[in-house]
Amino acid sequence: MVVLMSEEHLNNLSHEQIEAYYNELRQARRTATPIGYWYSKNQPEHPMPVSDSATSDQVTEQLEKLDAFIEGAREVHYRGYSSCRLCGKLNGTFEYVKNGFAIPVGLQHYVEDHHVLVPGLLELP
Ligand SMILES: [Zn+2]
Repeated sequence: MVVLMSEEHLNNLSHEQIEAYYNELRQARRTATPIGYWYSKNQPEHPMPVSDSATSDQVTEQLEKLDAFIEGAREVHYRGYSSCRLCGKLNGTFEYVKNGFAIPVGLQHYVEDHHVLVPGLLELP
């Protein structure tokens, strides 16, 4: 995984500060609990998303959880993109990291458009 920093963060930082930031962010990502990651050949330990597995109440509740999580979370960019396992749509190039959890930006699409019940999302503190 490659960690990139947004341009606005890069401004006015010394080389050492940038390196420290990268190291800290990598460490935070490495130790984070992933939520909303799906099966792929490279990551066969994750489940496949299931369409319409969430009730409409659960959809609403999950979207609220995501909104709250995104607030103040840091973005970790990866090289390339992820595509939706259900419809093939290009679905994001970074993930959010906060409070020991990592959530891909594309998770909202699974909840909103496919009504997927995401393991662990509703239990997020
Ligand atoms: Zn989709």
